[in-house]
Order: sequence, then structure tokens, then C-alpha cells
Amino acid sequence: MQTVLFHSTIFGPIHSRRLGVSLGVNLMPNDGKICSFDCLYCEAGFNAQGPGTSGLPSARQVREQLNQKLKQMHADNQPLDVITFSGNGEPTLHPQFLEIINDTIELRNQFYPQAKVSVLSNATRLADPNVVEALRKVDNNILKLDSGINSTAKLIDRPASPSYDTSQIIDQMAQFNGHAIMQTLLVKGEYDGKKFDNTTPLEIDALINAARRAGVGSVMLYSIDRKTPAENLQRISPEQLAEIASKFHAAGIPATTA
Ligand code: SF4
Repeated sequence: MQTVLFHSTIFGPIHSRRLGVSLGVNLMPNDGKICSFDCLYCEAGFNAQGPGTSGLPSARQVREQLNQKLKQMHADNQPLDVITFSGNGEPTLHPQFLEIINDTIELRNQFYPQAKVSVLSNATRLADPNVVEALRKVDNNILKLDSGINSTAKLIDRPASPSYDTSQIIDQMAQFNGHAIMQTLLVKGEYDGKKFDNTTPLEIDALINAARRAGVGSVMLYSIDRKTPAENLQRISPEQLAEIASKFHAAGIPATTA
């Protein structure tokens, strides 16, 4: 079974296609996965692997480890473009997420004031005011929306909550008044006897409408890059990604591809 990628709270720095030289922060366990989605393409594997035994790092542990790493990198004259929250699950599920973001911004300002703080979130925790407050403070508030059509999103992302509703998520994204980047993984394939394809003209129209209604500043379109836990997923070519991005541009929405 494909399992978690990250075996520490702080990882990297790694070179990210989308973000540059990135130091990763994993707020989920080091030996398991916890997420409110169970995406077919998740690089950390399926939720079925379990949450592991290490538990979540405390805010104090994150602060100490980040401080140590940034201090060392700074002393070694290493470059840094971004501190990125991703890892073995959904970072906003951490109960001290706001405190951790406040600490991270303070440490970033101390060691690498030019570096950005990015959060990759699946946008399922936007009903929590503390999560929203934290995401307002980060430079790149990157929110996943894989389809503007609820049934497709449920097939690809498999949310834990049966009441997951893309329409509600889009409305919640709008509360950032443009301080949000919508991130969409484009994919087609089949799982458990059900086919999906979020690259059809109908799907792209729904995504454009969602981006417009959510009022996001831009859209990040990408395709699978690594091994996925589900088989039978098709990678979207760079040419097709570029063609889809041009439809967003034509609608007046900035879009990048990776
Ligand atoms: S939201 Fe992210 S971490 Fe969660 S299952 Fe999907 S890809 Fe994996």
C-alpha cells in the first residue's frame, strides 16, 4: 500500500514545481495520515493506512523545530522562497493551527523576511473562524477545489463528511475577498467502477464559474506528478493544461499550470 511521504514535522527544503525552494511543514503525524478528504491521487496515500502512533506535533514543538531549521539554513546562507504547510493530511485540522501560523510568520520575519508562507488546504475547515483568521495572514492561501460539480468532487476527493457541498465551499472561499488561490488537480480515470473526468467543457465551465463566484485572485491548475494510491488515473498533458488555462484567461481569471 502506498503510504505517507513525510516522516518528520519539518522537511526539505525541496524544489517545488509550483512554489520554488520550499521548506515543508507537516502538522499531521509522521507515521500516518489524517485528512477530511481521501483523494484518489493523494501523494500521502489513502486514509486507510491509519493515523499512525506519533500523534500531532504540539505548537511548541513546531516552533522549536522550525526555529532550529531556519536558524541553521540562515547560518549556511541557504536560499528560501517559501515555507509550505502540506504533509500527511489537512494542516487546518491541527487544533493549534492559528497559533502555529502566528509563530511561523514571526520566525519567517526574523530569518527570511522575503520568503512567503503558503498553506495548501482542502478548504473543508472554512467554517472555523480561527482557521479563516490564520489563512488571511498567510501570503499564499491555496484552497483546493477539484470540481465545481458536487458529484464529481465527491468521486475524486472522497470527503469524509457526507454533507460536503462544493457550493458551500465556494461561498466560504468568497470571504477572503480575493486573498485566495484556487487549486485544481485535473484528472480523468475510473475507480470502483465509476468514471470521472474534470477536464470536460462542462466541468471547466463549472470551475470558471466557481472561481468567479469565489472571487479568488488566481487559479493553479496541475496534474498528477507522482505515483497515486488509485490505479487507472490519467495524467493530463502540459498542452491540455495550457489549453484549459487559456479558457480561464479568456474569462478574465489568471491561471497558472504545473
Ligand atoms: S486533501 Fe490533500 S492530503 Fe487530503 S487526501 Fe486530498 S491530496 Fe491528500
